[in-house]
Amino acid sequence: VMATPLQTDICIIGGGIAGLWLNARLRQRGYHTLLLEADSLGGGQTIRSQGIIHGGTKYALHGSLTQAAEAIAGMPLRWRACLEGDGELDLRGVQVLSQHHYLWSPGSLISKMAGFFASKALRGRVDAVSGEQLPEVFRDPAFRGKVYRLAELVLDVPSLLQRLAELAGDSLLGDRAERFDTPADGGPQRLICASGREIQAQRFVLSAGAGSEALLHSSGIHKPAMQRRPLQMVTVCAANLPPLYAHCLGASPKPRLTVTTHPLTNGEQCWYLGGELAEQGVTSDPQALIQRAASELAELLPWVNLQGARWDTLRIDRAEPAQSGLTRPDSAFVQQQDALLVCWPTKLALAPDLSDQVLDLLQRQALQPGQHPPLPELPHPPLAKPVWEH
Ligand code: FAD
Repeated sequence: VMATPLQTDICIIGGGIAGLWLNARLRQRGYHTLLLEADSLGGGQTIRSQGIIHGGTKYALHGSLTQAAEAIAGMPLRWRACLEGDGELDLRGVQVLSQHHYLWSPGSLISKMAGFFASKALRGRVDAVSGEQLPEVFRDPAFRGKVYRLAELVLDVPSLLQRLAELAGDSLLGDRAERFDTPADGGPQRLICASGREIQAQRFVLSAGAGSEALLHSSGIHKPAMQRRPLQMVTVCAANLPPLYAHCLGASPKPRLTVTTHPLTNGEQCWYLGGELAEQGVTSDPQALIQRAASELAELLPWVNLQGARWDTLRIDRAEPAQSGLTRPDSAFVQQQDALLVCWPTKLALAPDLSDQVLDLLQRQALQPGQHPPLPELPHPPLAKPVWEH
């Protein structure tokens, strides 16, 4: 005998930042939701992110502000409002690792860049700092270079996930979505799960990150297409590593290195290294990449003692809508096909933008919360564990 399908207004598939943020906002609006997570909450890209709430300055490194940079510029303020209990979601209690992300240039900055950073367009977004305002690591007398403070912050992603899971209440379901079943008459779709459960909803939101492609394909849906941009990140853990949250400027418009610092439960700190190092190092063998990272740090921050540090690498794909030439997508992506909305935030920072877009679509379609029988007891997905602990 087949169990009765679970019924909800909006079924969200995937509990990364995109699904969790949207779920909290939909519940606030009075919608009944179910959020399916196959593995652990945030356990895909989200827990591996650096937690930087970008304001787009990284994209301004070409020496001009593009549309892309403008679209993302409002995000840090929205997140800060949430952290203060004054925004669209109450994120009080989420740990801020650093109130600012920084940008440093190891040598003398090409004068064109220096002029641009000092320009009116970037005032309050990129500010040169010196002396006491410098992050600790740059106060060493051996440091030669310039440091800029960005209007961006860095969050502790595990505590963010924990808070969003609280806001999800009883809407979480630990199960894997396997395929959509669309009747020939085009009526409401059903979702079939790995457990055999079936879910009926007014709308399905697919926010399964890299998992969205397989789910679409197994349902016979081939658009939108997805792309993966792979990274091999480097972690270096030691006691007494100074906190560092910064992009290092290189010769190209992309950061040469992006460093964030994460506390470990054993009291050590972990530097998590991304940027060009992780993009270019994707095909390297882990030992070779670790050597490359060590020599980068020895060249850029020679006064930091890394003796006895433990090194590792971690591979992960960024999942995004396909773009020609693998260019960088620059805003959250939402595309609707009948009852199905396919989403990729493309950045942790853009989760609020993704939710805005979905809420706008639902509002334009005048989607009303419905009446649903109470849900049975459902298995809960666990929270993802920090990757630096492994
Ligand atoms: P995910 O976090 O991948 O979540 C998708 C979830 O769906 C997973 O939990 C998965 O288990 C689940 N799932 C998959 N298939 C199914 C299925 N069939 N049924 C049920 N569940 C399923 N962005 C920033 O803004 N700032 C940063 O500092 C930053 N740093 C980054 C560093 C790295 C190394 C990487 C890889 C990305 C970084 N990003 C950053 C980008 C950011 O992490 C991602 O854009 C964002 O986390 C994507 O969120 P998501 O919810 O779409 O996907």
